[in-house]
Amino acid sequence: MPAVNTVLIVGGGTAGCSLAILLARAGVEVGIAEIKTDWTVHGSGITLQGNALRVLREVGVLPEVLESGFAFDELGLRSSSGAVLAEIPDARTGGPDLPATVGMDRPRLAEILSAAATRAGAEVLLGLTASELRQDESGVDVTFNDGTSARYDLVVGADGIRSHTRSLLGITTAPRPTGMSIWRVHTRRPPGLERTDLCYDGPCYIAGYCPTGADSLYAYLVEDSQDRTMLSSAEGLGIVRGLAAGYHGFWDEIRASLDGHASVNHTAFESLLVPAPWNRGRVALIGDAVHACPPTLAQGAAMCLEDASVLADVLLSAERLDQGLLDAFTARRFDRTRTIVDSSLLLTRWIRDGSTDADVPALMNRIAELVTEPA
Ligand SMILES: Cc1cc2nc3c(=O)[nH]c(=O)nc-3n(C[C@H](O)[C@H](O)[C@H](O)COP(=O)(O)OP(=O)(O)OC[C@H]3O[C@@H](n4cnc5c(N)ncnc54)[C@H](O)[C@@H]3O)c2cc1C
Repeated sequence: MPAVNTVLIVGGGTAGCSLAILLARAGVEVGIAEIKTDWTVHGSGITLQGNALRVLREVGVLPEVLESGFAFDELGLRSSSGAVLAEIPDARTGGPDLPATVGMDRPRLAEILSAAATRAGAEVLLGLTASELRQDESGVDVTFNDGTSARYDLVVGADGIRSHTRSLLGITTAPRPTGMSIWRVHTRRPPGLERTDLCYDGPCYIAGYCPTGADSLYAYLVEDSQDRTMLSSAEGLGIVRGLAAGYHGFWDEIRASLDGHASVNHTAFESLLVPAPWNRGRVALIGDAVHACPPTLAQGAAMCLEDASVLADVLLSAERLDQGLLDAFTARRFDRTRTIVDSSLLLTRWIRDGSTDADVPALMNRIAELVTEPA
């Protein structure tokens, strides 16, 4: 018998859906309260490293991920002229039988995970969130925003970097800006573009692209943080085109493909690390609700997936839910996620300051070694 029979997960993103699948498949009654009414995800692409793929395999969605995405095993470094500076084999951190990296469209990943959660038997409560949590020794009474209520053995806040559940728990740690932000655009993949290439010169801190499927990619340009919220998408696209004009090689084709239909997204780089423990009684937090980092190592979603895997493992292999069990969860996750957050921030600083003595390969190797070890 697992430590819990009923679990409410607040937030149906990567972390929430993955936890829902693992628990529901083991016979736990799972509800997902997702504040969006239609559960669609917008956005460009995502880079999934081997350790993320390892959890997606455990969750049971790897075949769909591999079929929808684009797998590759090498990273390129280029100058802004498009000249290749280095071709670096990517570590297969999920194990030798998984690709080093899969690029995929974010909406497709979300669709795969949400469909799998429903198939596993999770009850999906769209348009709902927990507005009040009252707990005692044996459970949590949740009042939802529509006035209804229900009781659960455990509530898990997986509601992202601005987690409302975190606030309900009185945890005041908040995301911090890093001074950088990123333009991302989803567009057509030129023939021959078959891996991520990064460029650290030119008008942006980073210019990169990642194939996401048979004929798609997402490209990104990192700049000093500024308020772009008032821009129309046509104005955003104009800025992206202007910044992309400083890059050549495949960028020439990418820029040419950015017509009025291209979807552009601008996001600030932020970081967050909530001090341990990641629970208050019978309410626990996972994913970006407790740790988030700028995507310089492309490990954010991987860490969220690992949280889901470890929390499911801890809950399913014990018979009683107590603080010791949730401490064991935090203990298995805290140092690893802290290393990822700190290293992503260090890399961000090195790039911003143009550090010439920074040992980026050594940092990358340390992270690859760390995440190759299963969580
Ligand atoms: C610019 C950028 C690029 C990135 N690129 C990568 C990458 O290439 N690779 C990688 O591994 N990671 C990347 N990341 C990190 C990754 O996107 C996140 O770590 C991951 O998506 C977080 O998953 P999550 O499930 O914790 O939260 P989210 O994906 O934010 O999901 C939270 C869910 O909760 C819902 N929700 C919010 N509030 C409430 C509420 N009050 N009640 C109920 N539901 C609620 C939301 O609608 C959403 O469905 C990137 C991050 C950024 C900012």
